[in-house]
Amino acid sequence: MAQLDIVRIPVLNDNYVWLVHDPESFETMVVDPAVADPVLAEADARGWPITAIWNTHWHPDHTGGNADIKAKTGCEIIAPAAERERIPTADRLVKGGDQVRLGAHVADVWDVPAHTAGHIAYHFAGDGAIFVGDTLFAMGCGRLFEGTADQMFANMQRLGTLDDATRVYCAHEYTLSNARFAVTVEPGNDALAARLAEVEAARAAGEATVPTTIGAERATNPFLRAPSAAELGRIRTLKDAA
Ligand code: ZN
Ligand code: FE
Repeated sequence: MAQLDIVRIPVLNDNYVWLVHDPESFETMVVDPAVADPVLAEADARGWPITAIWNTHWHPDHTGGNADIKAKTGCEIIAPAAERERIPTADRLVKGGDQVRLGAHVADVWDVPAHTAGHIAYHFAGDGAIFVGDTLFAMGCGRLFEGTADQMFANMQRLGTLDDATRVYCAHEYTLSNARFAVTVEPGNDALAARLAEVEAARAAGEATVPTTIGAERATNPFLRAPSAAELGRIRTLKDAA
């Protein structure tokens, strides 16, 4: 099976939209299109017909391009069942345990409530890739807008079961801010200090810092490394105030 082509499209202030293409079936999907035009332009330039949109949650910076992309391409929109009312453009509703396909590539849907109540992630186990929306970020996690620290802790524990090499495609370039906070939580973590330096250099050079990997997060992400829901909640509150 040929590898998926995964292209990062930076939009708005700090959002990343992911364009995912299967070279065998030529199917192409978009994860969380905040806006339509840059996504349509990128797909056009590559000669990829957009066949689907996969949403992780209802926030406008993840679904704002749904209607225009669907109108221009006729694509199918897959979205979390628990957020059907907030994603009226959805064609197909999915929940944890369901599977979604891009050609022969299969993604398992995970329920990862906390940032929003119905947030889902898409795990391509065979491809070693997971699209996590606003659940896990490089050295950070999503804000707890509609859920609890217990829920986010459970999400982190589950993500922590994946192989180190698994690539994590998150929806924002929050890495530098996260890293600067993370070193205050774990001042003795050498891997984290080294990663902060790398990220500072990358951002100074205008480079993106995602996707990340589960291995990198296991070594440096204080939210993934938190020993308890209480500790995760404590540092999430500190980060919110930072
Ligand atoms: Zn969000
Ligand atoms: Fe977002």
